[in-house]
Amino acid sequence: MMKRGILNYPPEFFDHIWQQRWKLAAITGLSTLGMVVTAIAVTPPPTLPPEAFSEVVEQLHLTASAPLDQGDDIYLREARIHRGDTLGRLLARLGIADEAAQRFLLVAPETQALHRQLVPGRVVSARTSADGALISLHFPMNGGDTVTLVERKQNVQGQAAQFTAREQTLQYETRQVLKSGEIRYSLFGATDSVGIPDAIAVQMAEIFSGEIDFHRDLRQGDRFTLIYEMQDYGGRAARTGRILSAEFTNNGKTHQAFLYTQDDGRQSYYNAEGKSLKKAFLRSPLAFSRVTSGFSLRLHPILKTWRAHKGVDYGAPTGTQVRATSDGVVQFIGKQGGYGNIVILAHAGNYQTAYAHLSRFAPGLKKGDRVSQSDTIAYVGQTGWATGPHLHYEFRIKGTQVNPLALNLPTAPPLDKRQQTLFANKAQEQLALLQLLKDSPVARFE
Ligand SMILES: [Zn+2]
Repeated sequence: MMKRGILNYPPEFFDHIWQQRWKLAAITGLSTLGMVVTAIAVTPPPTLPPEAFSEVVEQLHLTASAPLDQGDDIYLREARIHRGDTLGRLLARLGIADEAAQRFLLVAPETQALHRQLVPGRVVSARTSADGALISLHFPMNGGDTVTLVERKQNVQGQAAQFTAREQTLQYETRQVLKSGEIRYSLFGATDSVGIPDAIAVQMAEIFSGEIDFHRDLRQGDRFTLIYEMQDYGGRAARTGRILSAEFTNNGKTHQAFLYTQDDGRQSYYNAEGKSLKKAFLRSPLAFSRVTSGFSLRLHPILKTWRAHKGVDYGAPTGTQVRATSDGVVQFIGKQGGYGNIVILAHAGNYQTAYAHLSRFAPGLKKGDRVSQSDTIAYVGQTGWATGPHLHYEFRIKGTQVNPLALNLPTAPPLDKRQQTLFANKAQEQLALLQLLKDSPVARFE
């Protein structure tokens, strides 16, 4: 495993790591160095997310080891489940031309669960002989935690082919991936170019959502470095895990985040000093996504700047979820002149936030309701004085609008003294890894 990983990496990268060795050893000591090299060694080059697989991914000639009499070549085929699919259609796309297998899969009691698990997007794989006889079928179940494995039994002379089906728990292999990138035009442009899955890019935006407004603050030349988990199955990236640590340099200011699990199992991100990254207010009332990041904002020609209209505008398609930037109580919900449909939330400490031009409100939400940070309270629209769909967001202190982009907002409490020490040790290791990666040469992409 380790050897394969090393071979997949360009040799220059390793030369570079060895040049960095003294630096790293100085920070963390030799025991961590072992961990560093392992972590890098098992990082393969960018893998495509499962969505990228085409209908039939590969037709591999494998050495015949399954119980087929013919001694034929064996083909591995994969097919994605479509919306409205039937098991019969799926088997046809997998190239299974095997009456006994089809009968078993369609009518045997032990395969009936498969009919209920035709979830669009899941990838089913089959091993067949060249003429379509089924050798084994691999059918993911229950959100990908288990798989039903259908196998051909050893053929008995003179008898029809028989099959078995059993459900197994999937054994994922978790590995750490280290990636670094630089923003030229957009965050997704940068993450795409280094093969970071969308789920990880969005996680990164969420982690820093109290410090950076990913819709408005990003600058050309911003850099990020990430260590995250990927879970593999059968040697292929199967699903994304958590970000373990991250560094983001935005407009010259560097932010760091380290995942830390407290004794009671609670997980949160902290900076290198052990301060929580969870802020009382999110920087942006819109969750960061491919859709919102690429939506161009048409500003009202007169109300172009914050000074002129005392709010921040976020371009987004009608229907995009609007979230409460902090815990609070609904103070007003309804229509208000040029604002159109508006929600005003009251928060602790004489703060208020307002969300305007909404197409509609969250079902059932009414004056006096309590909301939590990140709750969906309404949907983007263009009601009131708006020339295109966008969210107008205001931050008010004692009723007066202030510029939220220029505000330093309160933080969640830091770790206690004992946890702080435990955290500091972990953070040091991760910091050294981030540093190593940050200093390594990064390919620049358009
Ligand atoms: Zn506005």
